[in-house]
Amino acid sequence: MSEISVNLDDAVIPFRIEDAAVRGEIVRLKSSIHEVLKDHDYPEPIARAVAKTVVLTALLGSSIKFKGRLIIQTTTDGPLNMLVVDYHTDGSFGNAGKFRASARFDAVKLSELEDINDAALLGAGQMIITIDQGDDMQNYQGIVALDNIDLEAAARLYFGNSEQMLTEVRLSAEYDVEEKLWNAGGLMIQSIAAEGGSNADMNEDELKELQLADWENARALMKTVKDFELMNPKTDSQGLLFQLFHEKGVRCYVPQALEAFCQCSPERIENMLSQFSQEERVEMAKDNPKKPGYIQVACDFCGREYEFTAEHFSQ
Ligand SMILES: [Zn+2]
Repeated sequence: MSEISVNLDDAVIPFRIEDAAVRGEIVRLKSSIHEVLKDHDYPEPIARAVAKTVVLTALLGSSIKFKGRLIIQTTTDGPLNMLVVDYHTDGSFGNAGKFRASARFDAVKLSELEDINDAALLGAGQMIITIDQGDDMQNYQGIVALDNIDLEAAARLYFGNSEQMLTEVRLSAEYDVEEKLWNAGGLMIQSIAAEGGSNADMNEDELKELQLADWENARALMKTVKDFELMNPKTDSQGLLFQLFHEKGVRCYVPQALEAFCQCSPERIENMLSQFSQEERVEMAKDNPKKPGYIQVACDFCGREYEFTAEHFSQ
């Protein structure tokens, strides 16, 4: 095992059910998801959907074995009309996977919603999952049509389309009123080919049958998990896996830490503002009701505010 110490409150752990053709990943997010959400003033249902999408991004992104990015973006006609989560990894388990998130929503549409759930928040549109594999490689892009389906169903469709793998995903997020902290968690299992090994005498059909039986068994167990158990502080990730799959046994692999981050900087904002004409910048500064004479820009991801005068660009 590795000597890297990882706080399992903010980590993803890959695992394998012993003697079964099933692999998976389990995610917990605590201070990292709180870090992302505290700077955004999202209403609770929006924050919950953002947190669940971050969990999904970590489940998908942690299997990237190279320096790259995974981006999940939804564009839909529901109250939550735009959602983007960006996951960065250097491809090693030694360094944390880093994520940031941003959402746009329509407060009026949100207030009119009778039954608040992911599917209703999103409405119809699409989810685009992009894997950016770095400089020389072509991006991979998977598109899932959203038509009043929840995030878990969208994830199942993505895996069905892109990897043609039987996949089950659970996502959960909740604001802890006592601790005043957001918690989130998720669990994913995937059906993999049954191996020879102790089944060396089996033919291909028998192995396929075995794979399917393993899958149905694991899926039935996963269905017994309650949402709160996915982020219950009393049972950590390994405890939950053991609770579910103890009959066969579970092998956990090296966990990967997860943390919040942002890439914004004064230089990036300056660069963005330099694309406008000086005339436009003068107008922006003049029309700023919060602080006339200054152009103020808040980062969509972390909320950090930057300010410049128009004169700054005329030099
Ligand atoms: Zn930022």
